[in-house]
Amino acid sequence: MSQVPALSLLQQTDARHHFHPFSDNHELAQIGTRIIDRAEGVYIYDIEGNRILDGMSGLWNVAVGYDRKEIIDAITKQLHQLAYYNTFFKTSHMPAIELSELLAEISPPQFNRVFYTSSGSEANDTIIRMVRTYWATKGAPERQVIIGRWNGYHGSTIGGASLGGMKYMHAQGGLPISGIHHIDQPYWYGEGGDEDPEAFGIRVARQLETAILEIGVDKVAAFIGEPVQGAGGVIIPPKSYWPEIQRICNQYGILLIADEVICGFGRTGNWFGCQTFGFEPDLIAFAKAVSSGYQPIGGVLVSDKVADVLDSIGDDFNHGYTNSAHPAGCAAAIANIRIIQNEKLIERIRDDIGPYLQTRWAELGDHPLVGEARMVGLIGALELSPDKARRAPFAKVGSAGMICRDISFASGLIMRATRDTMLLAPPFIVSHDEVDFIVKTARDVLDRTALELKERGLA
Ligand SMILES: *Cc1c(COP(=O)(O)O)cnc(C)c1O
Repeated sequence: MSQVPALSLLQQTDARHHFHPFSDNHELAQIGTRIIDRAEGVYIYDIEGNRILDGMSGLWNVAVGYDRKEIIDAITKQLHQLAYYNTFFKTSHMPAIELSELLAEISPPQFNRVFYTSSGSEANDTIIRMVRTYWATKGAPERQVIIGRWNGYHGSTIGGASLGGMKYMHAQGGLPISGIHHIDQPYWYGEGGDEDPEAFGIRVARQLETAILEIGVDKVAAFIGEPVQGAGGVIIPPKSYWPEIQRICNQYGILLIADEVICGFGRTGNWFGCQTFGFEPDLIAFAKAVSSGYQPIGGVLVSDKVADVLDSIGDDFNHGYTNSAHPAGCAAAIANIRIIQNEKLIERIRDDIGPYLQTRWAELGDHPLVGEARMVGLIGALELSPDKARRAPFAKVGSAGMICRDISFASGLIMRATRDTMLLAPPFIVSHDEVDFIVKTARDVLDRTALELKERGLA
C-alpha cells in the first residue's frame, strides 16, 4: 500500500489550495473536510475507514451505484480506441451515434435528436439559446422571455443560475440575465397554508397564465421547470400542477421545458419525470444519472417540433462545447443505460424497492420532529418542524437541518439538508435491508436531533 499522508495534512493542503463549490471556504478551512477515499455499491468510505451509506447517490447522479466494472471497462476501452475527437468538423464517432440512437429509443416519442454538453448547467444554457433561436427563426424574435420558478434549480452557470430561482445565487454576480421571469413554486407544505393541495397546485400553475398575460403573449418564449424540484428541497408538486402547466403552455403556444437533470433515467419510476407527472415537454435537459457520474456528460433532448425549426435556420447553430459528445462520456452513458435496462432498475423502482422505501419512509411522518414525509420513486424529503400540527418553520431556518445532517453523516447515512428539509435519493440498486437501515438510522438521527435542539434551545 502506498503511504497516505496524515488526515490533518491532507485537510490543510485542501484548505490552502482547493476552492470548494457552494461552501463557506473560510469556515470549511477551520472545520476541515471529510476526505472520501473509495466507494462500492451504495457505500462510500472515508480515509479513516468509516463506511457511510450514500443516501444521496453522490449528487443525485450515481444511479447504478459505485465501482461498476461494466462502465469502467467501457470507458477504458473507448479511451484506447478514440480518447477524443470533436463533433464540430463535419465529423462524428461511434459512441456519439450509438448513444444518440439509444436516447431517442428510451425518451418520449417526440424526441429524436440530442445535443451534448458536459453538464446540466450547460444543457440549460444551450436551451436558452435554442429557445430564443427557435422563435427568431419562426419570425418572432421578440419572444425572448423564459419563465421559471422561485427556488427552482437549473445549474450554476450564468444562464442556468438565471433560470433558477435561488435568490442567494442571484445575489452574487448580478443575476438574473435579462428576459427571465419567476413565478411561485408548487410547494404545498411550505406555502400552501390551509388550501387543499390540488387546488393549490392549480392556483400556482395559473400564475404562469397571469405572467404570460402581464408580460404579453408575443414576448414569452417558454416555461422551464423540474418535474420534482431537487436542490430546492425535493418538492413534489400536487398531481393537478403539471397538467395545468401543460394546458397553459398549449393555449398560449409557448415551449415547455423539463429540466430532467435529477428526474431523468429512472429516479421517479419512469425513464423521465414528465412521464410520471403526465406532461409532454418540447425540450429536456439531462445530465447526472445519464452516466451515473462515471464521466461528466449532459445534454438536451430536442423534440421534432423544435428540431425542424432549428434545422431551417439556413445558417450554423453557433453553439457547442469542446467536450460535446466526448467519446468517454458517451461510452459511460451507454454502459450505464444498458445496466438500467438489463437489471430492470426502473421497473424495480416502480414496482418493488420504490413502494417499499416509500412505505417505510412514510412511517417517519409519525416522529414528533417531522411535519411531512414525502417520496416519489426513490426521491424524498422529511420536513423538520418545531410544531408539526401547524407545519411551522424553525425560528432560525437551517440550523435544525444542519444539525440533523451532521448527526446523520456521523451515524453512517448521508442525507442532505436544504433549509430544515432532509433529502434522500439513494442509488437505484439499494436493497431491502439497506432501506431498513436507512429508515432505522433516520429515526435514531431524528431522536438525537430533537434532543440536541432542546439542549441548544432551538426547539
Ligand atoms: C444539478 C442540476 C443542474 C446542473 O447540473 P450540473 O451538471 O451541476 O451543471 C441543473 N438542473 C437540475 C435540476 C439539477 O439538479
